[in-house]
Amino acid sequence: MNLLSDRINSLPISQTLAMAAKTRELRAQGKDIIGLSLGEPDFNTPEFIKDAAIQAINDNYNSYTPVDGYDELKEAVCRKFKRDNNLNYTPNQIVVSTGAKQSIANVAMVLLNPGDEVLLPAPYWVSYSAIATLAEATYKEIPSSIETNFKITPQQLENAITPKTKLIFFNSPNNPSGSKYTEEEYLALAKVLEKHPNIFIISDEIYEHINYEGENFSFARIESLYNRTITINGVAKAFAMTGWRVGYIGAPEWIAKACTKMQGQITSGTNCIAQRATIAALDAPVSKIQYMVDEFKSRRDIVIGLLNEIEGIKTNTPNGAFYVFPDISHFFGKTINDTLIQNASDFALYILEQAHVATVTGDAFGAPNCIRISYAASEAQLREALARIKKALL
Ligand code: GLU
Repeated sequence: MNLLSDRINSLPISQTLAMAAKTRELRAQGKDIIGLSLGEPDFNTPEFIKDAAIQAINDNYNSYTPVDGYDELKEAVCRKFKRDNNLNYTPNQIVVSTGAKQSIANVAMVLLNPGDEVLLPAPYWVSYSAIATLAEATYKEIPSSIETNFKITPQQLENAITPKTKLIFFNSPNNPSGSKYTEEEYLALAKVLEKHPNIFIISDEIYEHINYEGENFSFARIESLYNRTITINGVAKAFAMTGWRVGYIGAPEWIAKACTKMQGQITSGTNCIAQRATIAALDAPVSKIQYMVDEFKSRRDIVIGLLNEIEGIKTNTPNGAFYVFPDISHFFGKTINDTLIQNASDFALYILEQAHVATVTGDAFGAPNCIRISYAASEAQLREALARIKKALL
């Protein structure tokens, strides 16, 4: 008998986390798995951030924090938004949460009603659709392909909007494609959104610093959209702090207040030590993390080069994040080493079993022709992984 709620029964498992768990399980069985499934920097958290955390422990930061975060942290977030994004926020517009994932969930929970529609430019991060579903909204994918560098057009956006549309999730640089929208592309999409004043925008900028080309733009920079944009960010990706779990929003004050109310009933304030460490991270000049970005860029080039040597795999050149999202649909309907590959999930499973390389199927991201490869791994591991994949596909 299934005694669980309909809510959890209908919730899909996070495919990124499921692949990470599978990788751990296979390794525990003694298998030599190269994990390229999780979007997680393989660097250590920089020393100056660790020092700030140690200092916070020694200074006896051990009590509950304000639900929306320490004032000093919210001020640091405002300074960061101004310095990096030219965005004007005041501390009462900031809410600090246990990871950007909670920030996004808060916003969805406070804005969405049953029956509201959410737009997801595809490919999109796995949890957007699940979070929208948890908030009892429905979601609509706006498809794109490798031919358009996985970006949607203003016309597609216009066509997808209905009177029920309440929220759009926007993510640039994008997980899983690595694509980054230019300022002109933002402005063109904004022109459409300006015509629909009831639509809110979640602008997820968690990969902003993992950026190889040009500047990042933000929806909240556009005056007409500022009052209905929620800017999401966090320290996980840029500062190699995934496990520290600190995300934050900049939003209209009434939305920030609602998120604080929601969070106050579910988790309260984020871990106090991680918050103090985050002040040090955000106040540091961006140049302090450039070595990681340079390394990611060089790995991107290596991975693209090696993928291009494999017949049937189609790539583009992503200009941000640490993912490549090759189109592998050439293999659909083919039998390789007695295994019939019917879709991207079959392909990812085949690669896992034959090559012992963990990736994530594009199905999870609303892009069924692709797989996601995270290159947040050492160069040696990446070279070995690509050699194994090539061999498995011969
Ligand atoms: N955001 C990362 C990823 O896409 C971490 C895992 C997750 O939370 O989905 O791999």
